[in-house]
Amino acid sequence: MDYSEAKHRIEELKAVLLENSRKYYVENAPTMSDYEYDSLMRELEALETQFPELATEDSPARRVGSDLESGFRKYPHKYPMLSLGNTYSIDEVEEFAERVTKTLDRPFTYSVELKYDGTAICLTYRNGVLFRALTRGDGVKGDDVTANARRIANIPHSLKGTGWPEEFEIRGEILMPYESFDRLNEERELAEEPLFANPRNAASGSLKLQNPEEVGKRGLFCVLYHIPVGQVQYPTHNEALNAAAEWGLPVGDKRQICSSIEEIEAFIGKWDTERKTLPYATDGIVIKVNELAYQAELGYTAKSPRWAVAYKYKAEQACTPVLSIDYQVGRTGAVTPVANLEPVFLSGTMVKRATLVNEDQIRALDLHEGDWVYVEKGGEIIPKITGVEESKREPGAKVPVFPAVCPDCGTPLVRVEGEAKWFCPNRKGCPTQIKGRLEHFVTRKAMNILCGEATIEQLYSLGLARVPSDLYRLREMDLVRLEGWKEKSASRFTQSVKESLAVPFERVLFAIGIRFVGETTARDIARHFGSIDAVMAATREELLEVPEVGDVIADSIIAFFADKDNIREVNALKEAGLRMSAEVKEATSSALEGKTIVISGTFSISRDEMKALIEANGGKNGSSVSSKTSYLLAGEKPGPEKVKRAQDLGVEIIDEATFMVLIAPSEEALSPESSAAPTPPTAFGSGPLPLTRPRVARDSRDSASSDGVDSLFEPTLF
Ligand code: NAD
Repeated sequence: MDYSEAKHRIEELKAVLLENSRKYYVENAPTMSDYEYDSLMRELEALETQFPELATEDSPARRVGSDLESGFRKYPHKYPMLSLGNTYSIDEVEEFAERVTKTLDRPFTYSVELKYDGTAICLTYRNGVLFRALTRGDGVKGDDVTANARRIANIPHSLKGTGWPEEFEIRGEILMPYESFDRLNEERELAEEPLFANPRNAASGSLKLQNPEEVGKRGLFCVLYHIPVGQVQYPTHNEALNAAAEWGLPVGDKRQICSSIEEIEAFIGKWDTERKTLPYATDGIVIKVNELAYQAELGYTAKSPRWAVAYKYKAEQACTPVLSIDYQVGRTGAVTPVANLEPVFLSGTMVKRATLVNEDQIRALDLHEGDWVYVEKGGEIIPKITGVEESKREPGAKVPVFPAVCPDCGTPLVRVEGEAKWFCPNRKGCPTQIKGRLEHFVTRKAMNILCGEATIEQLYSLGLARVPSDLYRLREMDLVRLEGWKEKSASRFTQSVKESLAVPFERVLFAIGIRFVGETTARDIARHFGSIDAVMAATREELLEVPEVGDVIADSIIAFFADKDNIREVNALKEAGLRMSAEVKEATSSALEGKTIVISGTFSISRDEMKALIEANGGKNGSSVSSKTSYLLAGEKPGPEKVKRAQDLGVEIIDEATFMVLIAPSEEALSPESSAAPTPPTAFGSGPLPLTRPRVARDSRDSASSDGVDSLFEPTLF
């Protein structure tokens, strides 16, 4: 690979890794398997080693993935909280052992332990009492989740016994057992909430809830496995952990002291089968140098300790026959082959379909019709086919023929050089792509409009919605005439469309679906340029000034705005009143003048932001419900006592959506330009709401279609 090819590939890899790291750590909704993520990371590391001048400080190869989120107080870690070097190969474990043996050049032992698959936690005990709990965050500082940690049943509030230091840190993992995970997903299914892909995501999403009481109900538990060197005076890691266990701390007991690579390999082999009987998830084995003085001597790289390595088990596999293959068109026009399988039970769920990724992958697998295939399920929701069992192939089985035309609109497919996927080029006319873009626009992470796939299908088939701006023209009175709509559903829909006018510019930029511009990139670009006009006017060089924007993304943005239809649609959305600039308008509203509001529960914004919003609109914040309270503003899980008191006193209880309507400017108050907006008029007028509003619910996730990065191709358009 030459320099410019490497530069291009490094940018692509960085964009994909950063976006997927965010999905994994912040959204708790990975769409890629760990194995795939780790392979891409290795490719990036190798390229950065080969072309050191292309390696930047902010490269994901040099930083731990960050779980930091707004809404939590941040505190620095006393000692950085790093990742672990990892491998899927026993040979590399042997290389690790050889390296350490050579460096230390004297006898030492290993502590070999289970690798618990949850989310990392750092507990600080001061004078024997739990003082603080931090997430790993970006490794340097973490989110303060102390209130939540106090609700986790096996984390002691105070230590027992004697001998603990006045203050010390101990680290470990928060896990959700399979049983609690299944129960939580059943509840979410009933409530039509998105499901968690696996217990790790569920544990990490639960630990970041803003409601400690709810955290307490999620069945989380903690396993501790590390006390940083210098915190306690013991010669070995093992003795330090034994002491911690005596103080009542939940230390992992599945560990063994080993002196040789043979013992380590025996431990790995033993747990490869035995771990399947554990009630919680593990994803490998961690091998650590046991002597604390030697750990200090070996030290750290920027990302991980040199005295430890993680051997990761490959995801579980099952073998099952392929019944048929569907070719699915995505919103970018990419055609993905998906195999329909004879249902098979895998990692706790029944698998019926698996992605075949692209035509090259079908060839690489040498897949034939009716083949028995190996299916794997890692962190991702959609399982993947990793191999074919040739011995079970029927004689005369044919190789599947990739369609030459779009399965939806019949347009001949194209394959651009350097791209692995076939695309339907009929972006403006292919129904699946049009509907896919509408679906992307309404997702929670984008405009958060209450509108499922079936509604999009209906609106599209009736010719009522082709581009996102059409949604802003739909009126309640028209909707109730449609099949399946009632006044309540029509009002809920139009209300959520109206609320979307307050969605911040960075999410609008994400919603319009520019290829490669995922949530994180959209945020960076919005913050850098401040408005859609500035983004549209930006030259390629100016776009490249934004951190994380490289050639691929810059070209995609330029191409997007070079299309007149896209410009027309952006203008229509502007006229509908969507926020097209990042600046927050100062609230001048007196909508809440004379009103005292008590808030309870969690909202789509932090409680402090909600209180500020009340004051910004002339209201007063009350701390407890009394006869003088005007409203109890109840978010998710409001305090039952406050609700009861409000009911007893006849105080009106309102939800967040009603509150937002209260403070929204009235039709008359809208700017003169908006009321004079060209036809067809929008249903809701225009003009921003007073302050920025909803973010995504913390433990929610959207469908894989909402990201703009994983399918690398030219920009989409409306
Ligand atoms: P990791 O999960 O591979 O391993 C390090 C972590 O293991 C430690 O930070 C600690 O929290 C945990 N751990 C569990 N048991 C332990 C024990 N006994 N001793 C010490 N530590 C123990 O590393 P990471 O930095 O948390 O995450 C990076 C990995 O996450 C990647 O290698 C990848 O597999 C995965 N990831 C996946 C995606 C995706 O899209 N699928 C995205 C980002 C990251």
